[in-house]
Amino acid sequence: MVNTAEIRKLFPILNTEVNGKPLVYFDNGATTQKPKSVIDCERHYYEKLNANIHRGVHHLSQISTDAFEASRKAVQSFINAKHSEEIIFTNGTTEGINIVAQSFRKSGFVGKGDEILISALEHHSNIVPWQMLAEEVEATVKVVPFNEKGELDTEAFRSLINQRTKIVAISHISNALGSINPIKKFIDWSHALGIPVLIDGAQAAPHCKLDMQELDADFYTFSAHKMYGPTGVGVLYGKRDWLNKMEPVVGGGEMIATVSFDKTTYAELPHKFEAGTPNIAGVIALKPAIEFIEKVGFDEIHAIEQQLLDYATEKLSALPDVRIIGTAENKASLVSFIVDGVHPYDIGTILDKMGIAVRTGHHCAQPIMDQFKIPGTIRASFAIYNTTEEIDALVKGLERAINMLK
Ligand code: PLP
Repeated sequence: MVNTAEIRKLFPILNTEVNGKPLVYFDNGATTQKPKSVIDCERHYYEKLNANIHRGVHHLSQISTDAFEASRKAVQSFINAKHSEEIIFTNGTTEGINIVAQSFRKSGFVGKGDEILISALEHHSNIVPWQMLAEEVEATVKVVPFNEKGELDTEAFRSLINQRTKIVAISHISNALGSINPIKKFIDWSHALGIPVLIDGAQAAPHCKLDMQELDADFYTFSAHKMYGPTGVGVLYGKRDWLNKMEPVVGGGEMIATVSFDKTTYAELPHKFEAGTPNIAGVIALKPAIEFIEKVGFDEIHAIEQQLLDYATEKLSALPDVRIIGTAENKASLVSFIVDGVHPYDIGTILDKMGIAVRTGHHCAQPIMDQFKIPGTIRASFAIYNTTEEIDALVKGLERAINMLK
């Protein structure tokens, strides 16, 4: 069993005080804290390796390139992708989704009268790029609804998908409610009709063992900063056959084979989709983040996070004014809730005074809030370093906040 006290020692920020109180960090769905190995790796890069990659013959450029490409291999193995060139480094999940949406437009894979199928549980990042694409080519975005527990309606999915659907884009885990969506079913049903699927895995990568070959998604995107890695780095996994036939959407250095004023040709994968100088230090520091997760192991991660979820659900449900929003049977380690008659923002502000960091608002998922007819929720999202004592502090803080505000 993992020793949480030992894990906490790896995260320097967890010793911080906020407003004179020990930090209780429950905003992991927005971004996780970073272990020292990740921080040290970035620092080491700038102190010892800094050079541009894939270009120079000089020593530093070569070792930087090697470290960068070692990270690609680490991601490949982390998600069990078949080929390393199926790993495209981006600046985050958002960019990964936009690349696919814009490339589908440019490659002519979505056109007038076509449909794009998403769900009502999506983060804005997996809504807006498809709306932009639909507007550009006169296609339509169709939306799979969810029930009062926050579970997607699988029957509706089956009735909405059809031969006009050119891509399905659905999140693995909802960031606002924690629902774990039945993506394997969606992928299999879509493939039966020959339709590609993009999975927004931003909330899943730190919590679930990912296996691209088994899952069979055509595209899968996630962000390093939500999985103990640096900000400004993301991964777009794409099946090689798809990426090969897709047009690049960002032009510039590194993504070309030859440039002339008559005709420019593009580089092979993965470089075709990696124009310009990437976040080299960040990509290199994603590797120790993966190593951290792998060292703890997903069995342990799951056991601890499930315990935190169960404990928080029980304690918060016991508070008379609190209503949990999102009660899916299959749920990740976050609790979204509202307090009757009090705005989430006011609760968040008072909790902050007690050193407790939660997220308040619509969590970039306004359509979900609209369906529940609420302005937003208070979200406590857990990571491997959180403890039940911290949840006790949240509950106590909440009771005090409610007393003050009601
Ligand atoms: N998708 C989901 C489900 C998310 O939770 C987030 C971030 O909260 C994103 C996409 C966007 O991620 P990023 O801001 O790292 O691009």
